[in-house]
Amino acid sequence: MAEKTQRLEIVTPERKVYSGDVRFVVVPGVEGELGFLPEHAPLVSALKIGVMKVQEENRTFKVAISGGFVEVRNSRVTVLARTAERDDEIDRERAEAAKARAEQRLAAKTPDIDVVRAELALKRAMARLKAIS
Ligand code: ATP
Repeated sequence: MAEKTQRLEIVTPERKVYSGDVRFVVVPGVEGELGFLPEHAPLVSALKIGVMKVQEENRTFKVAISGGFVEVRNSRVTVLARTAERDDEIDRERAEAAKARAEQRLAAKTPDIDVVRAELALKRAMARLKAIS
């Protein structure tokens, strides 16, 4: 009989963000969204800044991540992320402030601005806001 759930672990260099049994998980792969049901074929993929969707047996939630890797094997999904926050721990005001700061830097276009850094900060802030929208 097919398994109903798979193990999901989300970790960052700082902490364990989530560990639990889930029905379905979607991650932001560098080439597009990847969805995993239990017994998915083994896989490793790089992840971009974006939002994960996690479906437990009785609830669904989102997790903002800022890039990393996913490994799938034996009905176990492991996400190693640079940073990750579950939707219930995201500080909306902080993300809005980070978004405004990045937008101002990009609009100013002065030579001292690191454009790539500002663009990445903007993407992180937008992913956090999307996770709680
Ligand atoms: P900021 O400029 O607000 O620090 P950032 O995108 O530069 O944003 P990161 O370097 O990605 O921040 O993250 C630093 C730490 O702060 C990480 O532990 C991350 O999970 C946490 N963090 C960042 N923004 C938020 C937020 N809006 N809500 C909750 N935690 C956050």
